Amino acid sequence: NPLHPYSKALVSYSPTISKEEKMRYTITGEVVTPINPPPGCRFASRCPMARRECTEREPELRYVGKDRLVACHFV
Ligand code: SF4
Repeated sequence: NPLHPYSKALVSYSPTISKEEKMRYTITGEVVTPINPPPGCRFASRCPMARRECTEREPELRYVGKDRLVACHFV
């Protein structure tokens, strides 16, 4: 049960034996440079859920359960 948009996309392409159609999340766009990344979330240029806040402020890693951490403004 991934919560972060990037994790959702990765897991959506994992193999399954189920006959049900699986929702796939395609990631498009360019990977930002790790040398001089722009402000905000490093996934913002490729995230289908990105909003203005994502390009202005880096999301903090926070607990969303007892042993679970996520860095996204909208989780
Ligand atoms: S903070 Fe924004 S850009 Fe980053 S993963 Fe969450 S929704 Fe996407």
